[in-house]
Amino acid sequence: MTNPLLTDWTTPFALPPFDVIEDAHFAPAMEAALEEGRAAIRAIAENPEAPTFSNTIEALELADATLDRVAGVFYNLAGSDSNEARQGLQREFAPKLSAYSSEITNNAALFARIDDLWQRRDDLGLSDEQMRVLYLTHRGFTRSGAALEGIARDRLTEVKSRLSVLGTEFTQNLLADERDWFMPLTEADLEGLPGFVVAAAREAGREKGQDGPVVTLSRSLIVPFLQFSPRRDLRETAYKAWAARGMNGGETDNRGIAAEVLALRAERATLLGYDSFAAYKLETEMAGTPEAVRDLLMAVWEPAKAQAEADAVKLTAMLHADGINGALEAWDWRYYSEKRRAAEHDLNEAELKPYFQLDAMIEAAFDCAGRLFGLEFAPLDVPLYHPDARAWEVTRKGQHLAVFIGDYFARGSKRSGAWCSAMRSQKKLGGDVRPIVVNVCNFAKGDPCLLSYDDARTLFHEFGHALHQMLSDVTYGSISGTSVARDFVELPSQLYEHWLEVPEVLEAHARHAETGEAMPRALLDRLLAAQTYDMGFQTVEYVASALVDLDFHDGAAPADPMEAQAETLARIGMPHAIGMRHATPHFAHVFAGDGYSSGYYSYMWSEVMDADAFAAFEEAGGPFDPDTAAKLERFILSAGGSQEADALYTAFRGRMPGVEALLKGRGLDKAA
Ligand SMILES: [Zn+2]
Repeated sequence: MTNPLLTDWTTPFALPPFDVIEDAHFAPAMEAALEEGRAAIRAIAENPEAPTFSNTIEALELADATLDRVAGVFYNLAGSDSNEARQGLQREFAPKLSAYSSEITNNAALFARIDDLWQRRDDLGLSDEQMRVLYLTHRGFTRSGAALEGIARDRLTEVKSRLSVLGTEFTQNLLADERDWFMPLTEADLEGLPGFVVAAAREAGREKGQDGPVVTLSRSLIVPFLQFSPRRDLRETAYKAWAARGMNGGETDNRGIAAEVLALRAERATLLGYDSFAAYKLETEMAGTPEAVRDLLMAVWEPAKAQAEADAVKLTAMLHADGINGALEAWDWRYYSEKRRAAEHDLNEAELKPYFQLDAMIEAAFDCAGRLFGLEFAPLDVPLYHPDARAWEVTRKGQHLAVFIGDYFARGSKRSGAWCSAMRSQKKLGGDVRPIVVNVCNFAKGDPCLLSYDDARTLFHEFGHALHQMLSDVTYGSISGTSVARDFVELPSQLYEHWLEVPEVLEAHARHAETGEAMPRALLDRLLAAQTYDMGFQTVEYVASALVDLDFHDGAAPADPMEAQAETLARIGMPHAIGMRHATPHFAHVFAGDGYSSGYYSYMWSEVMDADAFAAFEEAGGPFDPDTAAKLERFILSAGGSQEADALYTAFRGRMPGVEALLKGRGLDKAA
């Protein structure tokens, strides 16, 4: 039996032959791919010839050709259309792939060749892109400890493995606390709650095996409960339980884990020769240093705090008008803010929905890409992995650029959320490889399928990531498309969301599903105005968490993280009635793994850039200004990771981003 994952794909655009790929093909294909990769790595490491860029770095770029192909198909299916067999394969592959990548970074002969090239880099006659790939390869090996020897090397391995155990424990403790706590509600307690909250509370009660409705600590239930419940006593109980996740004493308490994690991270940074863990983590980011992150966060903090304090005065007056004396508390904010929102922004989701049809929003995203970059989209009739998935050929001036797959509907086999992935990335090494890019969302199916405004924004967001892949124009796969710094990768996606707010785009595409009429201008204005509501609160709860995260990792590890958290909050003057978005014992972004440690700021960093980048279009004459679009493609969307992110941004904008456009976009520029 031939394995279709291991043969040449003679399908149109060399798409994976989904009609003949079966789950049974994945494990043998993965084994074969790993074996092929190992043989390729061995051949590079043991090559008797002196290292050259071609026989070492380029050979390394090509070593995993089969693995990339098999994993590209498998992980797309595992995320968007899973089943028991695929889940089993995921569990089976995870340790094998992690062992494989450690084998490569621990291969001393291989690293010696890379290091030799790095030392001689100025004499190799490399292009800018080649120099960049050599730098990133060398840096990646060094950061994983390839240059360490003896005791230091062993200790680093111990530290890493202990950190991964602690990360899992942290997550499991948090899940246990979230699972174990619930608050039963009587029928009288439901008064004042909207239907969807009541339904969610009843469903949660059934799940917990209770006779009646309950409130749980799931964000999707507790947040609307805090928004809508007029019962201050119940809000207080629920809020306090929510804020105490991970700090209830006993076996699931995360405070000791947080302290150990911070100490081990600091040790890891020291072993690798960095001043602090933040310095180590930020080296690969656009921000670069802890100081740059702090400057950004503080520039946003002060105006956000001023806005939140002004809002707190209004909400406190509402509390007192309800006959309650004393201070506004954290369990009051969402409730009074929701009341104020309903009074000031009369925006009804049901009134909006008929204007956002899925197919029209896909057309809108395509239309903007056509006007900005000259792209055209033609539906493709090819076998895909699920009947709901659709494919288009993307061309420019008749030339093939990419295949775009949209898989928009929620289903049980799909994980939650929305994402963009490349089944195949663009590169030129080893032939002109054109990308296959997938956008996956979880929209409720309907006929016609109507989206909320947030859904439509998600569609544009993921399409912005897709453009970053489809317009990529680099030689080396390791720097293709979205292979950029974490705090830079959301720029194209968040930037693209801005075109959904352009009135002429909404007028053309947001048409009523039954009458076909354009959205009335007044409704559009109300929609856009509502976007900045309560931004003082949202910015404060987020920035406080980001600053605590940064302080934890900048300098020596704190012996008592809870005390360190309290010190940071006191220093910045945290408003009394606002809690951190994530406090330390349940700050999974920072403690469940390494991903966002000293990186929680990056959401805001990206938002600063997307606001500033869109302002470039406005300053140049409009959202479709051709020169600005050309620069965006040349310096950002086609450039992948071929240069440092700050150099790319500066080439596009003529300067580094400033926070003014973000403050304006969040409505914080008028704050005292
Ligand atoms: Zn994104």
